[in-house]
Amino acid sequence: MMSDERSASDGPSTQCVWGGEPDRTSEGATVMPIYHNVTFAYDDLDSWRKVGAGEESGHVYSRNSNPTVEVFEDKMQILEGAEAATSFATGMAAISNTLFTLLSPGDRIVAIKDTYGGTNKILNDVLPRFGIEVALCETDDPDALEDAIEQGCEVLYLESPTNPTLKVVDISRLAEAAHAENGTVVVDNTFATPINQHPLELGADLVVHSATKFLGGHSDAMGGVICGPRDLVDAVFHFREINGASLAPKPASLLTRGLKTLELRVLRHNENAQRIADFLSGHPLVNQVFYPGLSTHPNHDVARRQMSGFGGVLSFTLRGNFESVRHLLNALHRAHRAASLGSVSTLAGPPATTSHVELSPEERAAAGIPESLVRYSAGIENAEDLIADLEQALERVDAFLQTEDA
Ligand SMILES: *Cc1c(COP(=O)(O)O)cnc(C)c1O
Repeated sequence: MMSDERSASDGPSTQCVWGGEPDRTSEGATVMPIYHNVTFAYDDLDSWRKVGAGEESGHVYSRNSNPTVEVFEDKMQILEGAEAATSFATGMAAISNTLFTLLSPGDRIVAIKDTYGGTNKILNDVLPRFGIEVALCETDDPDALEDAIEQGCEVLYLESPTNPTLKVVDISRLAEAAHAENGTVVVDNTFATPINQHPLELGADLVVHSATKFLGGHSDAMGGVICGPRDLVDAVFHFREINGASLAPKPASLLTRGLKTLELRVLRHNENAQRIADFLSGHPLVNQVFYPGLSTHPNHDVARRQMSGFGGVLSFTLRGNFESVRHLLNALHRAHRAASLGSVSTLAGPPATTSHVELSPEERAAAGIPESLVRYSAGIENAEDLIADLEQALERVDAFLQTEDA
């Protein structure tokens, strides 16, 4: 593999293209081949034993490690500026394997309320069954989070920006509070990507990602990854080895290909989301726009301090109720009405069918997610086309609201 020192001083796109790529592949292939095999053979039992015991590098069985998967992990390790990385079949596998490795009965985890829907389910329904105390705090109340941390905190779990209302949490402030209690700080960096935000530099111990989103970037592969210090990553890796939620070689190869254009894509996602947020902010049918790049965002200062770009996802509320959302979404021609985010193509939907499909309407209301909210993941199309599309869709909403008023 490329030497870490050389990769660490490279710019982001050079890291995206060259980081973690092997110096030599079989037949001189310039793209890492897909090693589709389950098992790896040895000429003699001695070297097999040494690789199995971790005394020599190599691979034994693809649930544990695989050369194609390793390139994806090494690229992510370099991009997050971490000592180590390991991968998973999905983002939720990365999150659940991490939490089950770090937590034991009697432990306490402090987290923000606005976590990803699946994570929320683990925090609310699963961890308590294993005797783990879960303290969920208002995402935009750092004082409440600090108070909860002071009452005990084996793990602090954060996400920033959050889903779907793009709240921004002050990672360094909260990491400091958690470290004072000897807590391990985990940050879900899916929305920001390592192009826009480096949680490890801000004091986090572990970064988790759904690679399914921006990292892969094309909505054609699922995966998850964690990055951090060797001891923590190894502990989670050993749990994943037996838990079995391993990333397969084929999606790993797609994710690695996606990563090669990560910086190019994310810079365009950032630009498109900002232009669309600006456009929507001035539109009479739009009540509120949630985007950290807007100076009106309540945590714009924190976002500017800890992020170098504000990401490709925004959300907004419309005049009227869910019927306005239905009319807007049905009229869009340049957005898939689909779950997920971070794809080259624009994806839009209401939280009721996307990020918070796991929650009941009551739970969504309790989580402060309005029924007139639209989540919009700006793709890499041309901003003018996306804005024109939104403009004509908003005209349809206008026509609908006028018949309502009549
Ligand atoms: C999608 C997502 C996840 C879950 O990832 P999967 O790959 O779908 O399992 C976790 N966190 C965030 C912020 C996400 O957007």
